[in-house]
Formats: sequence, C-alpha cells, structure tokens
Amino acid sequence: MWASLGVVAIVLVAFRLLILAAEALRPKPPKPPKIDEASKAVYEAIERAIRAAARECWLIKLDTRDDRLLMQLDSRELPIASPFGDGVLQLFEDDGLLVAPFADRVDATVHFERATDYPHADDYEKAGIDVSGQARDDLAEFFPPQQRDKLLGWPLWNAEPSAPACPQCAETMRFLAQCDEALIFNCPTHLHELALVR
Ligand SMILES: [Zn+2]
Repeated sequence: MWASLGVVAIVLVAFRLLILAAEALRPKPPKPPKIDEASKAVYEAIERAIRAAARECWLIKLDTRDDRLLMQLDSRELPIASPFGDGVLQLFEDDGLLVAPFADRVDATVHFERATDYPHADDYEKAGIDVSGQARDDLAEFFPPQQRDKLLGWPLWNAEPSAPACPQCAETMRFLAQCDEALIFNCPTHLHELALVR
C-alpha cells in the first residue's frame, strides 16, 4: 500500500519536473526594456514633441498605362488647395519634372489617402525635437515618415538632408511631394519653380 503510494508520488514529481523543463525550453517573448520614472518622463516629453511635429500628408496611388509617368498631380483634382499653383505637375521616368499646362495632362487616375506623417530623424532638429542616442533611434523606429508616394508631409531623406534653394529668389524650397524615392521641392513664392532631390 505505502509502496504503491510512493511510486505514485515519484511519478507525479517526475511529471512535474518534465513540465518545468518544457517551460524552461520554450522561447520566451523579449521583455520590454525597463524604464525608470525619470526616463519615462523624458520619453513622454519626446513623444509629445514628435506628435506636435506631425504633418498631414496625402498618400498617392497612380493608375495609368503610360509607363514613363511616375506622378501626375492636377491642381484641379487635389484634396487641398494646390501648393504648386495652377497646372499639372508631372514626373517622368527619365527624371523629367515639370508643371505643364492643363492641355498636356496624361490619361491617368490618381487616388489620394489622407495620412499622418512624422519627420525623418534627420529633420528632428528642424522640427524642434531635442533627442539623441538610444531615444533618437527608438523614436525613429516607432514614428517613421511615410514610405509611400505622397503629397506634402515630411521628406523621407535618402541622402544628405538638404532642401534646394529657389533659382529665382534663393529662398529655401519646401517639401512638396515624394515619388519613387525622389523628393520634389518647390519655392513657396515661385510656385512653379520645382527641384528634384534623389
Ligand atoms: Zn523663389
């Protein structure tokens, strides 16, 4: 009687050990980094700053049979007041970028989707976000700029972050659109002055 109870107890203990061993072997999800209260306050302040720097942008999807056409924005069809004046802004595969008269419009349909855009890490200083080190990397990872083709918002810099100057008035151009990894800028005064940055 006691002997058989002893066997049952040993079996139960062995079984329990097996379960514990299986749990120890199972891969665990990574633990979130421990953040003390002071760091937490800093992170919250940074997050508020980046949310304040957020801009509205319009994600663009172009539907066309013209293989050369990468982007076409007709000022009469935009969801906002045209930031480049009247006309059709076109970007072609051979890097041809222009604002053409309405008559030169290519047969294409453009779909716009409203979205929120955050600055690239290279624009943090410009956006008034004072952050460095690990916090900067974390922020860039959690609040990336929109990668897709877009109208307005923040530029997704590939190269040295530098906005071109207007050839007419030397004023720094503003970010207008992003297409196929090319960045399009225009002068806030001379709206038809465009520049392409790759
Ligand atoms: Zn200008």
